[in-house]
Amino acid sequence: MIPFSPPRIDDKTIEEVNKALLSGWITTGPRTREFEQRIASYCGVKKVLCVNSASAGLELALRWFGVQAGDEVILPAYTYAATANVVIHCGATPVMVDSNKDDFNINVEAVRQAITPRTKVIMPVDIGGMPCDYQALHKLVNTPGVKQMFTPRSDNQRTLARIMILSDSAHSIGGVYHGRKTGALADISVFSFHAVKNLTTAEGGAVCLNLPDCFSLEEIYKQLNIKSLHGQTKDAFSKMQIGNWEYDIVEAGQKCNMTDIAAAIGLVELARYEDDMLVKRKTIFDAYSAAFAQEPWAELPLYHTADRISSCHLYLLRIKNIGIEERNAIIDYIFRQEVAVNVHYKPLPLMTYYKHLGYNMNHYPVAYDNYCREISLPVYYNLSHSDIKTVINAVKAAVNKVLYNSKA
Ligand SMILES: *Cc1c(COP(=O)(O)O)cnc(C)c1O
Repeated sequence: MIPFSPPRIDDKTIEEVNKALLSGWITTGPRTREFEQRIASYCGVKKVLCVNSASAGLELALRWFGVQAGDEVILPAYTYAATANVVIHCGATPVMVDSNKDDFNINVEAVRQAITPRTKVIMPVDIGGMPCDYQALHKLVNTPGVKQMFTPRSDNQRTLARIMILSDSAHSIGGVYHGRKTGALADISVFSFHAVKNLTTAEGGAVCLNLPDCFSLEEIYKQLNIKSLHGQTKDAFSKMQIGNWEYDIVEAGQKCNMTDIAAAIGLVELARYEDDMLVKRKTIFDAYSAAFAQEPWAELPLYHTADRISSCHLYLLRIKNIGIEERNAIIDYIFRQEVAVNVHYKPLPLMTYYKHLGYNMNHYPVAYDNYCREISLPVYYNLSHSDIKTVINAVKAAVNKVLYNSKA
């Protein structure tokens, strides 16, 4: 069976994790701090805080901004549940909007129409690794009418004096938009280092701070760090230093710090990310696109345009003019040929929980059409040339079988 996206774990990873384990310090410490600095310099942002998941990082950012009951956060219907659930954890309301047909990302015109005086945050998601249209989003939140409508309810909201752009960059580390890397494109961006993501620490995430100069990023880093440790003013590593045992609790914070064991994996991953892992992912994307370009049924994903480069996280193939039943039959037939594929995403309004909250899939026709026709293909570092051929042949045979009923 060709798996969908196993992690790249080799001697180098094992060696660095061993060193961390034997170092005498296994929770948040020097490796986590070094990983933060390396992410910051890789992405071109000033401050990065590592946490134990992207979900936790997104929630920290929402809470830092004072998002609460009565507030609205605009996000795409076409995303993973984490994007909406963190908003619900804060007591606020996710306002879901439709997607673009071309790149699967949040539709900026739909965002504009969804803005109300209760809107505090827009959460775009770089689906599959392709950066959203951040220039259009920044322009939108700075439009005089939209700024005037903004109704701050916390000190940080008063300081920003507009809707915050909080990017769910779970897929897009290494992606580029107008020459700048993800992490540096929104006010705050959050990466995921979950096991299936481009760059992994098994579980983990990073909060990249890129807020305007009216904020001290150093100060926000400290505040977020405290929020990630039960509101405790000193982390365990600082408390170890002479005369430093005493600490205070300043709020009922979360508990979502990254461990140095996880950071050890991340340091290895990041050191070989740009010149090795990303190159390999792009090669796989190119091979898939070359193989399907001539097929009349294939709609290829966008992953490189004049102003945007994807991190090549998900190869989002669409089949033209089919519905859910045909798509599912194609997937079954691909699996029967020992190739694991996936669907990204079943939109949230189709899920029981959100359906019960009143979200209705009829309001998101583009997201629904994208979902019905989408199949994500395996992309990972150790996928060999012959594996790539196997995947391509399995997809072609499945489409021919289901659409043209051929015996191929
Ligand atoms: C994976 C993912 C997340 C959550 O990441 P975790 O690190 O698992 O919390 C959030 N949003 C999207 C779009 C994701 O794919």
